[in-house]
Amino acid sequence: LYNMLQELRGNIRVFCRIRPMFNEEAKCTIDYIGSDGSLMVIDPAKPQNARKIFQFNKVFGPTATQDEVYRDTEDLIRSVMDGYNVCIFAYGQTGSGKTHTMCGPSNRSNKDMGINYMSLNDLFQISSTREDVKYEIRVQMVEVYNEQVRDLLVADASNTKLEIRSCSSDGGLSLPAASMHLVQSTADVLDLMKLGEKNRAFSSTAMNQRSSRSHSVLTVHVHGQDISDSTTSSCLHLVDLAGSERVDNYETTGDRLKDAHCINKSLSCLGDVITGLAQKNPHIPYRNSMLTQLLQNSLGGNAKILMFAHVSPEADSYGETISTLKFAQRASTV
Ligand code: ADP
Ligand code: MG
Repeated sequence: LYNMLQELRGNIRVFCRIRPMFNEEAKCTIDYIGSDGSLMVIDPAKPQNARKIFQFNKVFGPTATQDEVYRDTEDLIRSVMDGYNVCIFAYGQTGSGKTHTMCGPSNRSNKDMGINYMSLNDLFQISSTREDVKYEIRVQMVEVYNEQVRDLLVADASNTKLEIRSCSSDGGLSLPAASMHLVQSTADVLDLMKLGEKNRAFSSTAMNQRSSRSHSVLTVHVHGQDISDSTTSSCLHLVDLAGSERVDNYETTGDRLKDAHCINKSLSCLGDVITGLAQKNPHIPYRNSMLTQLLQNSLGGNAKILMFAHVSPEADSYGETISTLKFAQRASTV
């Protein structure tokens, strides 16, 4: 019954999260946050006449805690245990709070853990209460950068053999040969996340903020087997997307320009796919980017999608804020 109610509400949800102001003196673009998921934004250059209203499933203001955010996410996580595939995306410009939502604060205190940790914690807890079903939980973590996939959960990040190339076949790709790790406790998960973050950070110092220009995908495979030997298999993908900011052409040359091009392409492909699913189009353009090909099996059909649109409230982010909100509105069915 629970999942039937979910079905009626549609499989795509869009939440907006506004991070706190860093500079309290700066002008703020957020005018109003409604408890019904509406949001009003003002153009700081012409506050009298330029208000824009957006509508999402839910808006989390600057004071919302990680726990509050997780409380509105946990029902999706729990549906993974019932065999549903789920994708959760963090979208927004660099510095808007994507990694904060998915992983936690940048000072890495064990307080305020993000959705990645909270959801695995929840999955372990649920599986320990279900005596009728035996669950196995495995994780993979990859980075998608310039249309290439790289394993983040291997010991030596400097090893060039980590590069995993496209292995597209006629069907959708599932994650290619990235290492798969059986996890049995939240301690196991924390260790793997530290390794993944270290490997991601390694390339970002070596390659100039690469991490803000790559997508990181943590995939949780849940396999359940009940006493009558019937089995369920499902996936939860937790995706910290590349920064959505526009990069001015005059600032970018050579490789950086190529990066910017790839990111914009893969984010707009993702937008096209989700919009296509929201509108129930017969043809969904999964094959236009590596990210959507990787996630193809977990985006269509009965899969459930949650997109967090992150925005910075400061006036100088106004342009990016509007473009993030428009992108998210297009993906939304509300
Ligand atoms: P992104 O991953 O989108 O580039 P981050 O998650 O790294 O952005 O956030 C940028 C900075 O803002 C970090 O120092 C982060 O800890 C802080 N931050 C982001 N969102 C919040 C929030 N909701 N509450 C407190 N600090 C936040
Ligand atoms: Mg980040």
